[in-house]
Amino acid sequence: MNQTSLPFLPFVRAEIDEETIQGVVDVLRSGWITTGPQNQQFEAELSAYCGGRPVRSFNSGTATMEIGLRIAGVGAGDEVITTPMTWVSTSNVILEVGATPVFADIDPATRNIDLDLLEKAITPRTKAIMPVYLSGLPVDMDRLYAIAREHKLRVIEDAAQAFGATWRGKRIGSFGDIVSFSFHANKNVTSIEGGALVLNNEEEALTAQKYRLQGITRTGFDGMDCDLLGGKYNLTDVAARVGLGQLKHVERFTDKRRQLARAYFEAFAGGAAAELGVQFPVQNFTDSNWHMFQIALPLDRLNLTRAEFMAQLKERGIGSGVHYPALHLFTLYRARGFREGMFPHAEKLGASTVTLPLFTLMSHDDVTRVVRAVDEICEQHGTH
Ligand SMILES: *Cc1c(COP(=O)(O)O)cnc(C)c1O
Repeated sequence: MNQTSLPFLPFVRAEIDEETIQGVVDVLRSGWITTGPQNQQFEAELSAYCGGRPVRSFNSGTATMEIGLRIAGVGAGDEVITTPMTWVSTSNVILEVGATPVFADIDPATRNIDLDLLEKAITPRTKAIMPVYLSGLPVDMDRLYAIAREHKLRVIEDAAQAFGATWRGKRIGSFGDIVSFSFHANKNVTSIEGGALVLNNEEEALTAQKYRLQGITRTGFDGMDCDLLGGKYNLTDVAARVGLGQLKHVERFTDKRRQLARAYFEAFAGGAAAELGVQFPVQNFTDSNWHMFQIALPLDRLNLTRAEFMAQLKERGIGSGVHYPALHLFTLYRARGFREGMFPHAEKLGASTVTLPLFTLMSHDDVTRVVRAVDEICEQHGTH
């Protein structure tokens, strides 16, 4: 039921150029389709992007975080502090390595973990912290690493959404402790599925490599040993070729996303949504890579639910998403004792957030169309 004659506008869509498509065809014809030369090049280019730090590719951003935790020595008995406003993968990997996730509420303005609350959540059992840069907006990185240094904590940055973002001019990934990126299809740079781990030294990189493939080390023509319990997390060369094709465009992608975000703010200014009290993201056009554009609905001033709001957008040919429900209220986490009221800012945002379309193939007219639809729904369903 699309009321408009315009094509459906999804909330995200990857931009893959013809050169990359041809490159994938070449890889398929090359005789080497799984982890090989394309991965080597992908890792080399990622390392160059991250200021020469060692980088290893993986088949998902979830695998990268799990291996990052293992390399940092996180395991049973350890606590890891993170945000409840993230993709559930962030805390699932903490459970996966046998550690205990500890949440600190978000700052409602940035929607990222509140570093004051993070510091308060530190106990003698805290081993590591996992900040998340929601929508590609970094936390205060100077403060984050000052806290980590003072309390002797490892940092595994969940920078899944932050490829292309910076902190005071320095690329996320080019500094810090262990940094984890995702190249899932919805991320700013994609390898369809995939991820990369930025490490501190060659020793950590070697360990990452072992965890990635069964803990195996090969020597000479026929030597093989297994000295650690690894898994199966390697990236195919087909996927790495897609990633390589994307890396060429990262600066343009980020610029375009920033332009579209600016266009959103301009179009929303003074409109019905703004007047009703819809909340907008922080206007950061220097560090954020604008992975998403998320509004928060004033549900107490609307006579429809969030689901109905999203359905209204869909009727107007516009896709939307929810990133994310506060994850401590999921059944798995409730079973561990988490409840409503523990992280009120994350809960409020989790119940009211809507992700609007933002991707590089969009035009400014698309932005205008989305804003017009949001304003119209607010006008028709606002109750004050
Ligand atoms: C996408 C994402 C992940 C997981 O990445 P996958 O590649 O899907 O495993 C983790 N954390 C955040 C914040 C993400 O957005």
